[in-house]
Amino acid sequence: MIIILKRHASETDIATVSDMVSSLRYQPRIIRGVEQTVIAGIGDELSNRSLEVLKNLPAVESVIAVQKKYKLVSREYHPSDTVVNVGGTLIGGDHIAILAGPCSIESLEQFRAAVSDLTAMGIRVIRAMPFKPRTSPYDFQGLKWEGIKIMREVKEEFKVSFVSEVLGPSQIEALADVTDMYQVGARNSQNYDLLEHLARSGKPVLLKRGLAGTIEEWLTSAEYLLVNGCQQVVLCERGIRSYDKVTRNLLDVGGIAAAKQLSHLPVIADPSHASGKRDLVLPLAKASVAAGADGLEIEIHPDPVHAYSDASQQIPSEHLKEFLEQLKPWIQLAETEKAARQKPVEE
Ligand code: PEP
Ligand code: MN
Repeated sequence: MIIILKRHASETDIATVSDMVSSLRYQPRIIRGVEQTVIAGIGDELSNRSLEVLKNLPAVESVIAVQKKYKLVSREYHPSDTVVNVGGTLIGGDHIAILAGPCSIESLEQFRAAVSDLTAMGIRVIRAMPFKPRTSPYDFQGLKWEGIKIMREVKEEFKVSFVSEVLGPSQIEALADVTDMYQVGARNSQNYDLLEHLARSGKPVLLKRGLAGTIEEWLTSAEYLLVNGCQQVVLCERGIRSYDKVTRNLLDVGGIAAAKQLSHLPVIADPSHASGKRDLVLPLAKASVAAGADGLEIEIHPDPVHAYSDASQQIPSEHLKEFLEQLKPWIQLAETEKAARQKPVEE
């Protein structure tokens, strides 16, 4: 860490700060400038105690971290792309994965119809959401335990893989026999207790970016999963809160590209929750793929007009084929580029 002292800090001030740096188990190196003195605190910022407390000393102007708050998720630590296997479907590497399904499980009939349409299009990783985090406690919260029974029945028939959001540790256990990947929703992106429990589940985890989460916070949440033993993590950009009401959230296309540069983990996008509007899902899907996303999570419904949740953003499942057809040129281009990047450069 770098500690910048105030102008005209005295020798006593420099000695006080330097002693405190040592007491926090960093080696102090004093750099005397023309006007200001800087002390470099040398040490592993992830294992030593933070030097931020030095900001409290009257002679200190600022303290700047040198190391990032995450390590295991970073590309510097692990240069090659991580590929996550969800029941045989690979997310990451040189292809674009499509995950889709309804916002929530509403009935056996609705969920079965959705899965039947999706499998006919070759989509094998399906959103299966028996628990719904809702902004209002009066809104539909999902079928819960009844929804899990429906999942079992549909899985038995179609042999598909499910991605399911969990809101708390008890739901991890409840879904263990039927889901293939747990989802951490935007509202729980920094719920560290949940992340630690999920890391020990032995299944892949799809981690959404928080409603107003920075890229660093998102990657640091992923770091919790890796530190606690989960290597199979998929990052998902779902739009961040903005001041504009035209779209539900603001899809951070730059965030997708940045997360791909900063981390080896696969990054997918959720253009449905980002846009909140059916007609905007396709352009946002194209933008995400063009920015380097490794996949998309798309909400579809057999009859969106009557959906219990997110009715205005779900694509009718019968339109998904046409949607994917229109997306195809973007996917082909992105896959060609990804494959070229993975190939070793010839001498
Ligand atoms: C969801 O994918 O079902 C969901 C609730 O999305 P988010 O957590 O991104 O709001
Ligand atoms: Mn939804």
